[in-house]
Amino acid sequence: MSLSTTRIVAARVTPIAFRDPPLLNVAGVHEPWALRSIIEVETADGRVGLGESYGNLETLEHLAKIAPQLVGLDPFDLNALTRVVYGLVGNNPDTGATFAPEGDKARASALAAFEVPFLDLQGQILDRPLYQVLGGAVRPHVAYSAYLFYKFAQHKEDPGYPTDDWGEALTPAQLVQQARRMIDSYGFGSIKLKAGVFPPEEEIAGLKALRAAFPGYPLRIDPNGGWSVATTRRIMPLLAAEGLLEYLEDPVSTLEEMGEVAQFSPMPLATNMVTVAFGHIPKTVQLDAVQVILSDHHYWGGLRATQHLATLCRTFGIGISMHSNSHMGISLAAMTHVGVTLPNLSYACDTHYPWQEDEVIAGGKLSIRNGVLAPPPGPGLGVTLDRQALARLHQNYLDCGIRKRDDAKEMRKHQPDFNPQCPRF
Ligand SMILES: [Mg+2]
Repeated sequence: MSLSTTRIVAARVTPIAFRDPPLLNVAGVHEPWALRSIIEVETADGRVGLGESYGNLETLEHLAKIAPQLVGLDPFDLNALTRVVYGLVGNNPDTGATFAPEGDKARASALAAFEVPFLDLQGQILDRPLYQVLGGAVRPHVAYSAYLFYKFAQHKEDPGYPTDDWGEALTPAQLVQQARRMIDSYGFGSIKLKAGVFPPEEEIAGLKALRAAFPGYPLRIDPNGGWSVATTRRIMPLLAAEGLLEYLEDPVSTLEEMGEVAQFSPMPLATNMVTVAFGHIPKTVQLDAVQVILSDHHYWGGLRATQHLATLCRTFGIGISMHSNSHMGISLAAMTHVGVTLPNLSYACDTHYPWQEDEVIAGGKLSIRNGVLAPPPGPGLGVTLDRQALARLHQNYLDCGIRKRDDAKEMRKHQPDFNPQCPRF
């Protein structure tokens, strides 16, 4: 095969919108539509590498600037991709500069959006699954957790759509019911509760109900920085009782506060909010603020960056798992391919996947069974686009009117005086 046939001839970015249930969090409630972007990178011989990223306007602008500059590149030349991205996003084009302490989420996200399709193409060209391109698997599959949310029964001002069939979850008994269904359907072996919605004592009552209904299941709670340090200190004995928690995720909202909490927390602290870039690692280590980093290839810079992060975590004795937003199967496939390559991935990863009914990949949704998912078989990511679904989901994007996620605005439809300011408790 000559190099010219595998050169990139086009890159396309298609914003999509898909239904999202009214899931509650510290910022408010999910809107009826979640936004993503689907990235296609095409070679001269007609192969298409796939990626998935955010669907907000800033991300779309960055991706639109980068896409035409990829024409002519070799999908194996990830340094060339990095140079293009650094030249167009962020304020320092030097790809070897020390990572800025304030982080570089926009640039790392733009890089990741195209790195995954490049790697998908590498796998297709080599006729190898993507995890082999990444160095091979250390496990056959990735474990995911049951991701529980407090939720309303239905969205406000949303005529024409049936309510989702999960129903309301505002009480401990309803949470247990939600967990039961999720575990019965997917076989999950650990449970995460998205918190920061109600006063902490009420949420701990929910955790206790889950503990009673699912003895032996690791539990986590994630208030998304919704608690003050003082509140966290006050309720820590309740959280620590009977080994209730496997880890405590983002109780407070800054790295310094996490460092304070770490000094009195008997359990590991996890984050996807305060340590979200390589530039944050030095201070995180200095403060010993975080014991588990919830990686996310979408904003850490891609699948190889996720592997680098895992190595850094090994270096400093920090655990690693994975964070998730509302997403489609391309993201889940990418998470799973990289997840099987990480020797120190020691926790079940988060995924919103059970909350999404729709899918953009051919063959429909990937099947999580017994709480685990193996990388889809076949070369590269192992998934292809359902073009009719892509067109339909793109039409949703054009029609839905949402261009930037705003959970607080949506929450004010239910509760007009809602204030998302943190700490809430
Ligand atoms: Mg989180």
